[in-house]
Amino acid sequence: VRTFRGKTVALFGLGGSGLSTAKALMAGGANVRAWDDGEAGRLAAARNGVPLEDLSDSDWSSFAALVLAPGVPLTHPEPHWTVARARAAGVEVIGDIELFCRERAAHAGGAPFVAITGTNGKSTTTALIAHILREAGRDVQLGGNIGVPILDLEPPSDERIHVIECSSFQIDLTPSLNPTIGILINLTPDHIDRHGTMENYAAVKERLVASAEVALVGVDDAYTHAIGARLSADPKPGQRIMPVSAARRLDWGFYVEDGGVYFREQGHPPEEAELLGSLLGARALRGAHNAQNAAFAAAAAWECGLEDEEIARGLLSYPGLPHRMEEVGRIERTLFVNDSKATNADAAEKALASFADIYWIIGGKAKEGGIEPLRPYFPRIRKAYLIGHASDDFARTLDGALPYERCETLDVATMRAAFDALDGDAAEPIVLLSPACASYDQFKNFEARGDAFRALVNGLPAVIAARR
Ligand code: ADP
Repeated sequence: VRTFRGKTVALFGLGGSGLSTAKALMAGGANVRAWDDGEAGRLAAARNGVPLEDLSDSDWSSFAALVLAPGVPLTHPEPHWTVARARAAGVEVIGDIELFCRERAAHAGGAPFVAITGTNGKSTTTALIAHILREAGRDVQLGGNIGVPILDLEPPSDERIHVIECSSFQIDLTPSLNPTIGILINLTPDHIDRHGTMENYAAVKERLVASAEVALVGVDDAYTHAIGARLSADPKPGQRIMPVSAARRLDWGFYVEDGGVYFREQGHPPEEAELLGSLLGARALRGAHNAQNAAFAAAAAWECGLEDEEIARGLLSYPGLPHRMEEVGRIERTLFVNDSKATNADAAEKALASFADIYWIIGGKAKEGGIEPLRPYFPRIRKAYLIGHASDDFARTLDGALPYERCETLDVATMRAAFDALDGDAAEPIVLLSPACASYDQFKNFEARGDAFRALVNGLPAVIAARR
């Protein structure tokens, strides 16, 4: 990135992506002074020829900007003080997406830049948009908060569409954010710790769509609905604000009805709505929450100029993301589903609402609130298999409500659930790992937990053959 050619830039955070930011700045001719309060990051930087400087006692008048690496929270004690000092000296504090936006501004007439945010469904929507575009033969770069850091992607060009997931934190650090297509999926009062209040959190997310040429804004929750109304009342010159709903037919905009995703033009009767694609048969897009993600993805693809057939094909062939209601195997009539990403009751609810005849593997490191809110879904569950620290707590909720078994570990739980499902009388039983817990008591992270489950399921046929 050439925006800081010849200037001195401070960089805080030298994890994998901070390092790529440093390299991108240096390749563009900037003098980088980088720091991380962890030694591993500093060593990696030194190995890559990135000059180090302890920013806690720097003279800020010599810096043109402070760049915070993705993943460095503003509340982290050290950068918090560094940020405060930089701001006091009038030095701008920005992130890697800002660097991308400035670089992109230099390429007039470039291909669309699609930016996605919301409380839930960001990664799914981002991956789905990229999939639909790629299946239609477009040149797509996917990254940001999901997967590859934005500065490790191929740079903007006239054909290359960038599909970028943005966290609130990244939006905060991107004053020049101006996507071609901005997406705000939903807003619920989660994750407000860093932004203090819901108003603050919503205001940060609103900036992403307020700055977009085409703003796709959800209308299914009160917060996004209010944002859409506010933007529509006072759009930027040339800006279009398009409502998106998965819950009801709209007078105009994009919506899901009876499993179809539609676009309806303003002033046209419902029978003239255009069917963009169907979710019936889209195996990786089950559940009302995925209908919402699909509505946004179809809308983005339509705004990028794709044909209905191309959108329909992409929805059907979407393979899904790992660990989010991921089908990891089928043995006879039994389907095995890995939903390891469901680290709280709210996320587990989405999976429980999507299936019936569930053999449910739950537990891990408990989160506040437990599984009490999931009680309405108990009729869909044949039996629960408890693992990890949360077992006592969950057993208390399940006592008298559901049959359950304490299994301690994931391997025992998977075996027990598989045998019960195979021996049971359900037409399509589901063995579901949707643990409603963090994984840290037994696994490094939710990915490791989901990978372990997938491996166990792959090993099951041999175990079953031996048993019979
Ligand atoms: P994010 O990137 O915003 O964390 P993901 O696409 O990774 O979202 O989905 C994570 C989990 O959030 C899913 O497993 C599901 O339980 C839930 N989820 C996904 N999409 C939605 C949605 N549109 N509304 C509510 N919850 C959702």
